Amino acid sequence: MKEVILAKSAGFCFGVNRAVELAYNLLGDGVKVSTLGPIIHNQQVIDDMAEKGAKIIEKLDEAATESTIIIRTHGIPCTLMKEIENSGMKFLDATCPFVKKIHKIVAENSSRDIPVLIAGDDKHPEVVGIKSYSKGETFIFKNNDELVSLLKKNKVLCQKGIIIVAQTTFSAKEWKICKKNINLLCTNAKIFDTICSATHKRQSEAVTLSLECDAMLIVGGRHSSNTQKLKSTCEVNCPTFLVETAEELKSIDLSEFDKIGITAGASTPASIIKEVHNYVRNC
Ligand code: SF4
Repeated sequence: MKEVILAKSAGFCFGVNRAVELAYNLLGDGVKVSTLGPIIHNQQVIDDMAEKGAKIIEKLDEAATESTIIIRTHGIPCTLMKEIENSGMKFLDATCPFVKKIHKIVAENSSRDIPVLIAGDDKHPEVVGIKSYSKGETFIFKNNDELVSLLKKNKVLCQKGIIIVAQTTFSAKEWKICKKNINLLCTNAKIFDTICSATHKRQSEAVTLSLECDAMLIVGGRHSSNTQKLKSTCEVNCPTFLVETAEELKSIDLSEFDKIGITAGASTPASIIKEVHNYVRNC
């Protein structure tokens, strides 16, 4: 019999839970819902909401008449926010409060003379949104190597006042190394610790589990940033498999592993985690 350990931190975080509940409440009340981009990075939840009538839109003019726009957890650029506010359309802002806090930090602390450095993925909607609140130059780095070469290329950043924030799902381990180098290389930097505590907790639990297990299963959407990071965090310690559903486990041979750890991204519903957990326990 295999030993299977399910991480306590697996599954919906506070922000995702709030957004999903808001959307389901509206759908339950018969309200027409249009989400600006997929509300969370989980195909099963998106499909279920689509079945209940939710429409994913990329631009405001794609919204169905009389529908309520839902702004997803990652947030949106400030110009788009203003456009929605001025349009007179009904909307519900489900941006995670932790992301909102970064918008506020960047808006209040940046200026034409104070550039912003963002640790994160420049194409991720959360980073695109954060960047939009900067009042001056903005630089984005995805890891410590990129940060160091950025500072070497732009030596002026090492002396002038700069502010540094991180995408909420940035790797806590990489952030620690980045902060050490910023403190070594920059004389006037203001660092804001903006990694979400739910993400940090999930990552540390995943590390601990991956060190004590023979294999790890990460349950979540392949396009989800925090699911991908969980995978890369665990695979340095043991064989790690990313699955979106229990069905996908049929093509993975787990027979050689006696102790298997399971964790899941912030957008993974409890029902899918349970299915995977049951499958592994019985395989
Ligand atoms: S991971 Fe953190 S920042 Fe992202 S939605 Fe969840 S609670 Fe908010």
